[in-house]
Amino acid sequence: MRCPFCNATETKVVDSRFSGEGDQIRRRRECLECQERFTTYETAELTLPRMVKRDASREAFNENKLRQGLLRALEKRPVSMEQVEDAISRIKRRLRAVGEREVLTKVLGDWIMQELRQIDHVAYVRFASVYRRFQDVHAFEEEIQRLRQEHETAK
Ligand SMILES: [Zn+2]
Repeated sequence: MRCPFCNATETKVVDSRFSGEGDQIRRRRECLECQERFTTYETAELTLPRMVKRDASREAFNENKLRQGLLRALEKRPVSMEQVEDAISRIKRRLRAVGEREVLTKVLGDWIMQELRQIDHVAYVRFASVYRRFQDVHAFEEEIQRLRQEHETAK
């Protein structure tokens, strides 16, 4: 592991702990050359199913794309990176758990919405409005209506 500050190859681990619901190890490292500290994350590389898009084309599951999508929906919302990473971990676990070689992007989209609904309603509505725009406007309105009622009864 090269130091990102001075490029030295000698670094030592000063702290490691689990994060991302336990399937990720976070390591704090210190460069023996310049003494700068930095963090690395370690995750097991397991094969995830390929994504089948609406036009039937296939692509590899892209974790960064998922993260960016979540962060876009969560922009300026009071949600920590820890919560985002936990959501990503849960989604990836579900992807592995289906035991299929291919999963529809629509299914992934539904899982993302379920996660956002738990984390932050505003982000959920943002994501859903974009995600469902080309699908079913009616279903989206029903969902908004349902959320509003849920909110009302929660008062
Ligand atoms: Zn260094």
